[in-house]
Amino acid sequence: MPKQNTETLAQRVKELKEHPLEQHGDETEAGNYFVSNYPPFSYWKPDMVDNIAPILLSDAPVDTNLGLYLHIPFCRKRCHFCYFRVYTDKSSSEINSYLESAIEELKVYSEKPYLQGRKPQFVYFGGGTPSYLSTHQLQDLTDRMKDLFPWDEVEEVAFEGEPGTLNEKKLTAIRDIGVTRLSIGVEAFDDHLLEVNGRAHRSKEAYRAMDFAKSLDFDQVNIDLIAGMMDETEDNWKKCVDIAIEQEPDCVTIYQMEIPYNTTIYKEMQEAGKVTAPVATWSTKRDWVDWAFDRFEAAGYSVTSAYTVVKNPETTKFVYRDSLWAGADLLSVGVASFGHFGGVHYQNQADVGPYMQAMEANELPIFRAYPTSHDERLLREFILQLKLGHTNISYFQDKYGADVTQVFSEPMELLRSRGYLSVDGDQVLINREGLLQIDKQLHEFFLPEHSDWKRYT
Ligand code: SF4
Repeated sequence: MPKQNTETLAQRVKELKEHPLEQHGDETEAGNYFVSNYPPFSYWKPDMVDNIAPILLSDAPVDTNLGLYLHIPFCRKRCHFCYFRVYTDKSSSEINSYLESAIEELKVYSEKPYLQGRKPQFVYFGGGTPSYLSTHQLQDLTDRMKDLFPWDEVEEVAFEGEPGTLNEKKLTAIRDIGVTRLSIGVEAFDDHLLEVNGRAHRSKEAYRAMDFAKSLDFDQVNIDLIAGMMDETEDNWKKCVDIAIEQEPDCVTIYQMEIPYNTTIYKEMQEAGKVTAPVATWSTKRDWVDWAFDRFEAAGYSVTSAYTVVKNPETTKFVYRDSLWAGADLLSVGVASFGHFGGVHYQNQADVGPYMQAMEANELPIFRAYPTSHDERLLREFILQLKLGHTNISYFQDKYGADVTQVFSEPMELLRSRGYLSVDGDQVLINREGLLQIDKQLHEFFLPEHSDWKRYT
């Protein structure tokens, strides 16, 4: 590697770590921009795990919704932009052992006073690739989950699927276990893009999966798209959006490509001494998503958040997202999964080895935690709800006794001065331009003690 390039990269990474909130230009550089929780994960610590036990021993709350999340960390192949801990080499018996541990973990929780007898409002199978499991594994797993936490009050069962694993038999099994919302990881309809970005599937498999899913009458079929994959061009993107519209999914989730530090793409950037990721600039990605939103709207869809368009907003709900963004408890099991009980965030061990060892030792496999304060919970809900493009001032007054226009007057004024935010009666609104870069803008709300958060964690 040329010395000069090494120094440039090292300097740049140092600069990003020291001044993560600054505008670093339009190029896509390495780092996590997406705000999925608050405070950021880098503030969750192993020495805070002790905060979980007292919560679990306390009485079950009467007015807090509960969700279940199960993490399936297996994939056919690792995508070049993937930043999750995924395994592509596990045998069926190793997967069975993992599922046994996950059920055991759920069983331990089912006996805790805080969770005993509670019925989930929603269930989410994420990954990794939940559809990597065999039909038998899925049936057995969900039967046992239902024995521990009955699904008779469940409003949504969401399930992520990779197109290449979704044949008719598998999809029938997924529907029959009770999945209401199937999310298909299409990402793009162009085979060159799929190949260059390391996806396991090709467009033919995406079309086939969509056809089967539609014929099986799932309540909702969502497809995921990514704007700005490596080698993406404007023409490609527009074709991809038009094909997505032709496929008539109930909803479409669109992400702007980011390159976190633990991706294959970042490793290749490091080896080549490059600071800029080989993907479109942020302004290009915003333009592409803006174009896609317009196109979907012209086809009858509605933009319902910074990332989603839906065909029928009356019937297409996002129970998982909306409940979590309103402070629901999330009982999350499996390796690396993120959960939340009574104001305490937690994350499980991020590798299968320590995760399984903890379960064998009859210990909860929690790696790190964070007990949130009243102010942090208020801030968390407020910024996450802003991703919807609107939230209600009275909601926060009723729940937290706080006037958000006062508490957040400075960052709200900042966003207003940038032309992204307005207040209309009881509503705080974010316009399209703001939504297209909402994750960047939300950092303005972070408390001073979290303003040095590191995007690489
Ligand atoms: S399918 Fe998803 S979880 Fe699996 S490697 Fe690709 S991005 Fe990662």
